[in-house]
Amino acid sequence: MRMLQEVLKDWEAVIGLEIHAELTTLETKMFCGCKLEFGASPNTHTCPVCLGLPGALPVPNRAAIESIVLAGLATNCDIEKRSMFYRKNYMYPDMSKNFQTTQGPIAFCMRGHLDLAVDGAAAKERIDLPEAVQDGGYTAHIGITRIHMEEDAGKMNHVGGSEGRIAGATHSMIDYNRCGTPLIELVTEPDLRTPEEARLFMQKLRQIYLALGISDCSMEEGSLRCDGNVSLRRRGEKRMGTKTELKNMNSFKNLHDGLAFEICRQAEVLEEGGIIYQETRHWDPSAKRTLVMRVKETADDYRLFPEPDLAPYDLTDEFIESVRKKLPELPDEKAGRFESSFGLSSYDARHLVENGSVAEFFDKAMALAEGGAPDALAGEGATAAGGAEPLGVAGHAPAAPGAAASLAKPLANLLINDLTAYLNAHDGLELAQTFLTPARALDLVRLTDTGAISSKQAKEVFAAVLEEDRDPAAIVAQRGMEQVSDLGAIEAAVDRVLAENHDEVALYLGGKVQLFGFFVGQCMKATAGQGNPKMINEILKKKLGQPSA
Ligand code: ADP
Ligand code: ZN
Ligand code: MG
Repeated sequence: MRMLQEVLKDWEAVIGLEIHAELTTLETKMFCGCKLEFGASPNTHTCPVCLGLPGALPVPNRAAIESIVLAGLATNCDIEKRSMFYRKNYMYPDMSKNFQTTQGPIAFCMRGHLDLAVDGAAAKERIDLPEAVQDGGYTAHIGITRIHMEEDAGKMNHVGGSEGRIAGATHSMIDYNRCGTPLIELVTEPDLRTPEEARLFMQKLRQIYLALGISDCSMEEGSLRCDGNVSLRRRGEKRMGTKTELKNMNSFKNLHDGLAFEICRQAEVLEEGGIIYQETRHWDPSAKRTLVMRVKETADDYRLFPEPDLAPYDLTDEFIESVRKKLPELPDEKAGRFESSFGLSSYDARHLVENGSVAEFFDKAMALAEGGAPDALAGEGATAAGGAEPLGVAGHAPAAPGAAASLAKPLANLLINDLTAYLNAHDGLELAQTFLTPARALDLVRLTDTGAISSKQAKEVFAAVLEEDRDPAAIVAQRGMEQVSDLGAIEAAVDRVLAENHDEVALYLGGKVQLFGFFVGQCMKATAGQGNPKMINEILKKKLGQPSA
């Protein structure tokens, strides 16, 4: 098989995603009062409604409707005031009702879009774009067809096979706790062109849902799931080819790699004169291939018809407006604020908001830097912890507003680079579980900014804060790291060096200006390597005087 970059020279990939999110933050299921709880003991949260027993009648969960309207507003959708629930009929043991309650042609949310900023390595997959655009990045406008409401099915546990698969299993067990879990499905237009764009879309949507607080969006636990539809067409061709649908894309990497593999597979089939069948395929990340699961059912197979037990659902303007008022600051808005308020580059701002808790942390640290209460800017999610912390470094009074802005860039760097590397190295660790606090991060950045420690020493202090749960200033003091910035001490050292090196001073004044570096070196030695280099330079220049030309 050819490599993706090669294949994409001849073929254009057309990709559309179907993304399911369980509304895990709700108390109860979609159409009954059963409790929503991940990991509860099997079949303890069921009732006649979610099991579909005769005579049981569903009642829609208003909080779930609020969540889907939030999702629609945050992704620029039109909110449909009247929509209906439908029955999608099929028989499978994980669904004892024998039909899934879902929505029909009109969903609560229709015709939205998201704009993706694609840059860095991700932009390189768009080999159809001019090189300058690949280097500088571009914006991809991705249409959202709809977001509809539906319910999840139960969970089957296959016993005896390998890796919990049905193949080779001796028997299966069913847990109906999950059935009836409110689920929202977002369907994109076929507007994505590369696996990287698909990954970025998924990441951005996850950030939005997390900011909205409507789902915990765990791809591992399956509360956020993605199916990728992909087809190929010759470059320049307008008509779309036959698509396949990929399942089991339970991580961002799998989503990218599965699509990349499938694009290469389809190209090979087409180039050998074969045809692509519309089928559902399973991505196997360890074997690095996709396998046919089933040929595609059509909508007719499901006998979709309006749910007779649920009246059409009417949303009032008042309801929609009340939900709009609950919209939090979304990641794009937050990034925009970081740029305009703190002068960050759009790249830095975007990376800071990728992780909601990192962005909140940055907000708290900047509020401290500006001398304000850390909670003033940090929004509702802010905890009291940030406010209760002392500044840590004795004698470091809060900087005046304006001075704080110069700390924004080094603070962003600390969080984007050093912290991210640390979290990645400690698999699955969250920022809140580390010993880094906004006050400590700010102190560390200030210690470097004022020249008290070098940037190299800052790395050592950062590592020590995380290891030892102590304030940066305490670590600096204990390890005797602090640069000597005491004017008197440095002047004394300079005087000593000049007195001990009469000959060199004479040569310097006679025009041998290269000797300046020698004096700096001697002064560093005289201060045991801890003299502030900037001060040493200035004082040396003053004391030596002008060399003759
Ligand atoms: P189906 O009826 O097979 O479910 P839909 O029209 O509902 O197909 O589309 C499902 C997803 O597939 C959407 O995200 C859509 O953008 C995408 N899609 C549709 N046609 C194509 C195609 N030819 N190539 C790639 N993606 C496609
Ligand atoms: Zn129930
Ligand atoms: Mg479909």
